Amino acid sequence: MTMAMDEAAIRSALLKWFRRCARPLPWRKSADAYAVWVSEVMLQQTQVATVIPYYHRFLQTFPTISELARAPLERVLELWSGLGYYRRARHLHDAAKEVMRRFGGVFPQDYQQMRTLPGIGDYTARAILSIAFNRPYTLLEGNVARVLSRLDVLKGNLHQGGFRDAVEDRLGRLLSRRRPGAFNQALMELGQTLCLPRAPRCAPCPVRGWCRGYQSGQAELYPQPRPRRAVEYPYLAVAIIRRGPRVAMVRGLDGGLMADLWNFPSAFGDSRSEALSSLREKLAASRRASVLFQESIAELGHRITYRAIRVDAYPAEVSRHAGREPFEWFLVSTLPQAAISHLARKIAHEVFDDA
Ligand code: SF4
Repeated sequence: MTMAMDEAAIRSALLKWFRRCARPLPWRKSADAYAVWVSEVMLQQTQVATVIPYYHRFLQTFPTISELARAPLERVLELWSGLGYYRRARHLHDAAKEVMRRFGGVFPQDYQQMRTLPGIGDYTARAILSIAFNRPYTLLEGNVARVLSRLDVLKGNLHQGGFRDAVEDRLGRLLSRRRPGAFNQALMELGQTLCLPRAPRCAPCPVRGWCRGYQSGQAELYPQPRPRRAVEYPYLAVAIIRRGPRVAMVRGLDGGLMADLWNFPSAFGDSRSEALSSLREKLAASRRASVLFQESIAELGHRITYRAIRVDAYPAEVSRHAGREPFEWFLVSTLPQAAISHLARKIAHEVFDDA
């Protein structure tokens, strides 16, 4: 059999399997560009099961691009709260406004025009073009790379140019020109449901007959892992500053993290005492006043990518300030609905009876 015949057979087996076995994910019910776009943005760095309820809530609240464009950013961030990577929500909102302003509310169908919208990179543009507009664009991501590296026993990983070129080349030849959207989704589905990283489920796999990884008996060795970044264990001191029923919040966590979300005033350090004195200095500098901390009232752990953070929450008093306030004062009872970080939510749950 020639390679081209092989590729046609793989393509057809994959599409047939996808028609029969695809999970009924909510974004697969619609080929509307707006819905595809929202799902693609939510799925960046986030698991399918986590995204589903957020996707439903988001589209119920903003069923069209114009409703998203008209919404206040604060409302968009509230609906995103808990999904992480909040820059995605900001970009989505900004891009919706641009689609209204520059394209009369109609999502562009041209790759170059799409790329001018905030937050739409190469991958997202290709996803929307292939899935919503059935245009022949390939989609290379981790799941797809895993399937193809096993199919062809390709050594390396996506961070290596030679590996990437080989996978892209094979993907370009395999792509269905008639049904590119279904083809791209089928390959990802295969990677997510059968061709799993540690234990591939080869028995029901539609491409097993062509898979050299399966034939080698060592499919799980492909692709090769990238060396992991070592975990860091910083301390974070957090100030709980009350004024009657309200509590002080600031935008962002210390060190530029979570810049879009409300958090309790905080500071990192390599030790518990270093974090606390950094927080004392930070608050004193921002208010030009002295700060009085009480004993820690809550200790908890929180993971942000490679950081396993040890958090201490301290009730604090700061003298009133004549100039511009460095805080926003939130009613404690409204914190559960506010656009606060997941970490702030955990802290509020620990330290307040009414949040
Ligand atoms: Fe992956 Fe196994 Fe299918 Fe090969 S046969 S693509 S290793 S699930």
